[in-house]
Amino acid sequence: TTTLNHAAAKNPSCKIMTFRPTMEEFKDFAKYIAYMESQGAHRAGLAKVIPPAGWKPRKSYDTIEDMVIPAPISQVVTGQSGLFTQYNIQKKSMTVGEYRKLANSKKYCTPRHKDFDDLERKYWKNLTFVSPLYGADVSGSIYDEVEWNIGHLNTLLDMVEQECGIVIEGVNTPYLYFGMWKTTFAWHTEDMDLYSINYLHFGQSKSWYSVPPEHGKRLERLAQGFFPGSSQGCDAFLRHKMTLISPSILKKYGIPFNRITQNEGEFMITFPYGYHAGFNHGFNCAESTNFATLRWVDYGKMATLCSCRKDMVKISMDVFVRRLQPVRYDLWKQGKDTTVLDHLKPTELTSPELESWREHRVAQRANLLRRFATYPKRKIPTEIKKSRRHPLSKPPTRSPLSIVKQDPASDKDMASPMPMDSDMKKQEHLWQNHSPNFLAEKAFNAAVAALKPHCAVCSLFCPYTKVGTLQKDVSTDNETLGASFPRHGSLTRPLVPEMCFSVGAGNTEPPPTNYHIGEDGTSLLICCSSCQMQVHASCYGVKPDSVGDSWMCSRCAAGAWTVECCLCNLRGGALKTTTDNRWVHVICAIAVAEARFIDAIERGPVDVSAVPETRKNLKCVFCHGKVASQNRGACIQCTYENCATSFHVTCAQIAGVVMTPADWPYVVSVTCHKHKKVTPKVSPTLGQRVIGRNANSWYYHCTVIGMARQTFYEVNFDDGSYCDNLYPENIMSHDCLRSGPPKVGELVGGLVNPLWVLSVQVEFQDQSQLMVKHSEIFQLNQELPKRVRARLVSVLLKL
Ligand SMILES: [Zn+2]
Ligand SMILES: [Zn+2]
Ligand SMILES: [Zn+2]
Ligand SMILES: [Zn+2]
Ligand SMILES: [Zn+2]
Ligand SMILES: [Zn+2]
Repeated sequence: TTTLNHAAAKNPSCKIMTFRPTMEEFKDFAKYIAYMESQGAHRAGLAKVIPPAGWKPRKSYDTIEDMVIPAPISQVVTGQSGLFTQYNIQKKSMTVGEYRKLANSKKYCTPRHKDFDDLERKYWKNLTFVSPLYGADVSGSIYDEVEWNIGHLNTLLDMVEQECGIVIEGVNTPYLYFGMWKTTFAWHTEDMDLYSINYLHFGQSKSWYSVPPEHGKRLERLAQGFFPGSSQGCDAFLRHKMTLISPSILKKYGIPFNRITQNEGEFMITFPYGYHAGFNHGFNCAESTNFATLRWVDYGKMATLCSCRKDMVKISMDVFVRRLQPVRYDLWKQGKDTTVLDHLKPTELTSPELESWREHRVAQRANLLRRFATYPKRKIPTEIKKSRRHPLSKPPTRSPLSIVKQDPASDKDMASPMPMDSDMKKQEHLWQNHSPNFLAEKAFNAAVAALKPHCAVCSLFCPYTKVGTLQKDVSTDNETLGASFPRHGSLTRPLVPEMCFSVGAGNTEPPPTNYHIGEDGTSLLICCSSCQMQVHASCYGVKPDSVGDSWMCSRCAAGAWTVECCLCNLRGGALKTTTDNRWVHVICAIAVAEARFIDAIERGPVDVSAVPETRKNLKCVFCHGKVASQNRGACIQCTYENCATSFHVTCAQIAGVVMTPADWPYVVSVTCHKHKKVTPKVSPTLGQRVIGRNANSWYYHCTVIGMARQTFYEVNFDDGSYCDNLYPENIMSHDCLRSGPPKVGELVGGLVNPLWVLSVQVEFQDQSQLMVKHSEIFQLNQELPKRVRARLVSVLLKL
């Protein structure tokens, strides 16, 4: 083997390299990729290859016009200040000719611009406005049989189909992309951190941004900071391909990146774990797919996969490790293979293991051919999956500052607000309508300090349970709490993302770097020597080295013993001054959208002047009618669809309402008690009574009598409509029962894709039985979606 160090030293600045192979060099794809890496091309994560002069993948593009784009997507972008979320909504099918006309129309065409810099500025300024249509993820190739044929690259990745009989559209088959101005691919690495190749067949340019693989984790950390909601919901949310981050944000946070523009007739290669994103300048057509080299195997083994969606691509690495790393196979199986990825090392072209695998395959294939000589068309059964480069999703219904009107008719609900549980009642002496009671506040603060996460600000994201019980212990017996929890002087990790302190009315600037947080992400816990309130130095905006043993919080330092928060009705907790010389809880200032920290690092003073009357007039489900206070405060609302349930931040906290960090530019996601149960879709059990969809599309009570994995078909009809619940027998013009399932892409009035779905066999009260998709089964105690409630037949027959 060659010494790899010399190549590792190549391209130390991780710049995007451009290659111009000769016709001779262009003949062997795998060999040229290995050559590019020997020059250090992979360190940028992205490289350009300009094919030899005269080379063409196709004689003419004239016949492309009649091709059908079965499922174009409308790209809706929300967000601000360089941080955006993209939602893809499926639209009706159209031909390439129709798409081209649309792309060149007044509404969608490229704006006038001086140069690339000007166009790039226009892109980042306007991407939330007119939603462009993207003809993305179209299965197919428009290559004639030539070199660098995206449909036949013959790399290691072909083993996935040959050995496992798995076809993943777009991964080991080509995809076509028809773009227009502003169509976008969000920040991502390839499925399983594979390589990708992209050829721009014709049309306007495509601009790319890329982050060197050796700095990929830095991009992930930045994204996690701004999209904490997504990050907590999935181990690899960037694989949802919804996150757009502008170059100015990358620059601001010191993430190394490069940009390059790909022109007509040029190839781009992306390397394992190279994050990339970009946009099209105008109407164009590109083709791409994934591929692999020997170097990829370790990347595939280490790839962090999406943990929240069932339909995301996963390639079993078993066969690759078994065949290519036999020495490590057993250890790897036991989870003890400690591979450390070396992003600098270039790939080997081949290895003895790969050679023997290839020979084995050739022998096996010859064998198969001999055996099935009479059925020459017979193939290994294949399973077909689809990789969505542009997964479909729905944009949110509410903007960060929207307020859902409370129904005055439901005021009678308000007359009997949520019953306060005993823990809340125990905090009675903290209500602002009672006279101030500093000892009670002190006891409350001490109780909160003893609870996880031991910080009065971070506690926003950990609903209180049993504060009351603990408080009794604190006041009567300090010993029972033990000395085990982190106290003044301990270092722990804050739960509140920095972003939460910088978002607020009128302020859309992402936060500056916080020097009060250590390199390891921890912050010093400090406890007020007067009121016992404990917080992270960073959460409260205090320089850690300025804190002594007898540190006092702002309110105690000011001697303001009778202060009240202007946004809620409870005393105690971490308080800061407002710009109009009142006081406010740090957590109230975080969660009330219009409140703003003037200095995001100092966490104060807080400007509450932008809090609108409509918010002040919201009635808190917990304290409305109970607290006859002059101060109405300002409520936050349940985040679920159009739920108008409102509460004060501290009332919600004491009542155990779940609040979690939300994605930029939202701050807090709130789930009222009513909507708490919706999220986890639990599998039903045999014999369980559930609500299910009957054949007449009404919902009835029924009993689970069986469960099975079943194939449904997803069909993109030629008329642009879409259906994902066709039973095999319902696909007209195709006799599935006799001749087996239709082939993917086969015409039955549309494009067909099989889906594997858990289905549940249920028996209705009329004793009819039906297989129902899991998604159409609802638990009796769960909050039903509107569409189900509207069609629920609730007549219960006596059994
Ligand atoms: Zn996910
Ligand atoms: Zn904290
Ligand atoms: Zn204090
Ligand atoms: Zn408050
Ligand atoms: Zn309240
Ligand atoms: Zn709700």
